[in-house]
Amino acid sequence: MTDAERAAELRRAIREHEERYYVLAAPTISDAEFDRLMADLRALEARRPDLVTADSPTQRVGGRPADGFATVTHAAPLLSLDNAYSTEELRAFHERTCRLAGADGRDAPITYVAELKIDGLSIALTYQDGVLVRGVTRGDGVRGEDVTGNVRTIRAIPLRLKGPAPGRLEVRGEVYLPRASFDRVNREREDADEAPFANPRNAAAGTMRSLDPAVVARRGLAAFFYQVAAGGGETGSHEDALRRMRGLGLPVEPHWVACDGIEAVIAYCADWNGRRGALGFDTDGVVIKVNDLALRARLGATNKFPRWAIAYKFPAQQARTRLKQIAVNVGRTGAVTPYAILEPVSLAGSTIQMATLHNEQEIARRDIRPGDLVVIEKGGDVIPKVVAPVLDARPPDLLPWTMPRECPACGSRLARPDDEVVWRCLNGSCPARIRRSLLHFASRRAMDIEGLGEALVDQLVEQGLVADVAGLYDLEAPVLAGLSRMGPTSAKNLVERIARSRTVEFWRVLYALGIRHIGERAAQTLAAAFGSMDALIAAPAEAMRAVRDVGPVAAEAARRFLDEPHNRELIERLRAAGVPMAGAGPAPAAGQPLAGRTFVLTGTLDTMSRDEAERAITALGGRVTGSVSRKTSYLVSGADPGSKLAKARDLGVPVLDEAAFARLIMNP
Ligand SMILES: [Zn+2]
Repeated sequence: MTDAERAAELRRAIREHEERYYVLAAPTISDAEFDRLMADLRALEARRPDLVTADSPTQRVGGRPADGFATVTHAAPLLSLDNAYSTEELRAFHERTCRLAGADGRDAPITYVAELKIDGLSIALTYQDGVLVRGVTRGDGVRGEDVTGNVRTIRAIPLRLKGPAPGRLEVRGEVYLPRASFDRVNREREDADEAPFANPRNAAAGTMRSLDPAVVARRGLAAFFYQVAAGGGETGSHEDALRRMRGLGLPVEPHWVACDGIEAVIAYCADWNGRRGALGFDTDGVVIKVNDLALRARLGATNKFPRWAIAYKFPAQQARTRLKQIAVNVGRTGAVTPYAILEPVSLAGSTIQMATLHNEQEIARRDIRPGDLVVIEKGGDVIPKVVAPVLDARPPDLLPWTMPRECPACGSRLARPDDEVVWRCLNGSCPARIRRSLLHFASRRAMDIEGLGEALVDQLVEQGLVADVAGLYDLEAPVLAGLSRMGPTSAKNLVERIARSRTVEFWRVLYALGIRHIGERAAQTLAAAFGSMDALIAAPAEAMRAVRDVGPVAAEAARRFLDEPHNRELIERLRAAGVPMAGAGPAPAAGQPLAGRTFVLTGTLDTMSRDEAERAITALGGRVTGSVSRKTSYLVSGADPGSKLAKARDLGVPVLDEAAFARLIMNP
């Protein structure tokens, strides 16, 4: 086989497996085998640069970050759709369609195609002779931005179409962030002390506007296509167009259905309103389109909307309740964040009594005051948020909320550097901060000390048994055995697990220290670049900044942390305790936070149904089983627990009450 033939064969195989993995979600080879194919192709292309083609799978992330995006005028405008919020409006749409079509809807039912509406960012792609040449955002519908470099990094989007392709093909669809990617991205942002994205749509839109394709590639965007805008398929049916796109290797959301008449459409909408939570992405409704393209052409468009389609919006999962109080939480870096304590209210099948409030500015901007009647909303996340106060119902004497000036945990004065949104407790021995830093240190992606959960950490801090993370290595089983909910067996197990944490890779230690702005990825690249704590301590900030994934802010934060005598002392005590302070180690891929963990549920949870709890666990990679055994990682115990609770205690399985469970899934 010649090099050219070998390159073509590798590309064909890689494209096929990319489609199986990213489009069909049905891989037939392991990740390692896939990586080997890519490595072979990279090696071959490195040896024979003359054989590199623009549509090669190795060329997804091209050159340097862009300076900006060029504006492009769409060949045909991307119209938005008229909305329907009720079945009555859907029936009215149908009657209008029948009237305009000159058909009697009862005798010759109009066929519609119902598709799930993806909550993402609209995009138009152009393929020339089967090769992806351009990706443009919807923009204002007439003009969008050329984001080709970013689109190329999305693995679900083929750089070359399968089979015989038309000379020029334009397709339209939606780029979105799957929930699993969204959760991972937000965890990484929180680790790095950056503001999390409010929802997957914002995250997708923000990502596509990034000027650095390497950033886009890491986020894990996906896409679905729903329209052939040019390049054949102007006649026939919409169904055919969807099948044709699939045949060309383009991802199409698979749950679409052809419906005869509007009642079948209404049933489809009702069905998906009930089970949309089980999808791996956010959908906010159903798009209904006339199937017959010739009829579509006759129906035409108003100056705003096509007459042959409508978007049905699912009813918002909202409720109103009284905001009893705004309380604050102290994080490990001392960040003080407000949250809402609510009059319990039922929403989408569960009782809600807590909600997020982002930060002080957001509360002021939305003018949310303690005592207000507020609207709360549940999106894809398990934890709901406060949307707005109901101003008409505001009692006359409510005062705006003000951030406390003192730390609720230690009483120190809170500080807020000028350029920041967040107030902080700067006291390094603040019990709330010690508590959070112990939990972070022990977390699975840091030192992975299983069993060191909230209830136990609370006791360790309250009883003064541990004053910082190094103190964990001095703990002895007899002392632990005396704590509540601990017995000799679980105490002995915990001491063993703490001892075992001495075998983790150095980058995890770096991450576990909880340095502001140093998330998992920065810890991995710093460890790989410097190889030891001593080398890092000796390194100037400029040297750290030169490392990939470490920006000036993170480099400065790491430098400040390492210059602090108190932190240096902590590092020396960890070193003396046998915690590794050197080693580049392989940088593992970021897995799901609860992967490998098994949960058993017992009793009734107040704030979520059994189903929701299970979904939350599985969404984070955990597993739910029916009975408690030694292999169970956690028992989640609600009100009126069964015999499982006693069994878990016997076996030394950690027990999470509802509050602890809620915190775990909020911050796994
Ligand atoms: Zn404090």
